Amino acid sequence: MPREIAVPSRTKEILEEHGFSFKKSLGQNFLIDRNILEKIVSAAGAGPEDGVIEIGPGIGGLTEQFAKAVKQVEAFEIDGRLIPVLQKTMMPYSNVRIWHEDILKADLEQVLHEYMQEVEDVIVAGNLPYYVTTPIIMKLLEQRLPLSRMVFMMQKEVADRIAADPGSKNYGSLSIAAQYFSVPVKTMIVPKTVFVPKPNVDSAVVRFDLRKSPPVHVEEEAHFFQVVKAAFAQRRKTIWNNLQHNLTGREQREELAAALQEAEIDSGRRGESLTMEEYAKLSEALRKHIT
Ligand code: SAM
Repeated sequence: MPREIAVPSRTKEILEEHGFSFKKSLGQNFLIDRNILEKIVSAAGAGPEDGVIEIGPGIGGLTEQFAKAVKQVEAFEIDGRLIPVLQKTMMPYSNVRIWHEDILKADLEQVLHEYMQEVEDVIVAGNLPYYVTTPIIMKLLEQRLPLSRMVFMMQKEVADRIAADPGSKNYGSLSIAAQYFSVPVKTMIVPKTVFVPKPNVDSAVVRFDLRKSPPVHVEEEAHFFQVVKAAFAQRRKTIWNNLQHNLTGREQREELAAALQEAEIDSGRRGESLTMEEYAKLSEALRKHIT
């Protein structure tokens, strides 16, 4: 059995053997710390009957740990140069399938339907490419796939925004979207030193426990998220100013005032002070008063 992939000396050997050079534009920072990988696998709570969809396997450091812990791994890698590398490093693991595909374009519903019928829980995991962290998370949350959990490494700053509570400086539309679809929990902070090449910022691992139903009721989800986005358009402005400029327009001042009153929200408050329940009430009131 060869040495594990995510050990600095073996990673170096693999990279040299394939003459691989990192592409910053693809967010390539590989993990070289076994301990961190084990913690990600443990945060994923994946057992021997479960399946994992991995985003961005790189040279397979995390993939290898999942391969040992679960029944099946479907790993999606965008960089064609890494496919022959993965084919070689994953040779000892017959339960890993490599897909040369952009995760944002992959039809995961079909993958689940055609390839993952034999597993108990499906968990999506990955050390995410930093340039596209938020779109990947949002796409997966909005798709409402029959997943149990998602576990991702990301920039600490994004993790802070995802898990933020109302009133904090990190609270914004990303916090509300993430918390509408899931219960996100930061499980650990990860220093820059455990990656090659070393990124500029620290990272964090977030586990998203997916909700079966949202914590608030809204008739029209798209409208709810439109209201939230408008409310945070300029953080220093009041909810009144933001909604008037970014949602209703000046001509519907009276209707906006009526909606805020109905939702019992003071027009001088800022978007960051409203809870998700208040946004839901506001979205319903706006739908009623604004045509
Ligand atoms: N999992 C490896 C590790 O932890 O060492 C590599 C993680 S690295 C931060 C991110 C990986 O995602 C890279 O291998 C990169 O090529 C790949 N990637 C970037 N954009 C992608 C996309 N849209 N779809 C799938 N993979 C992507």
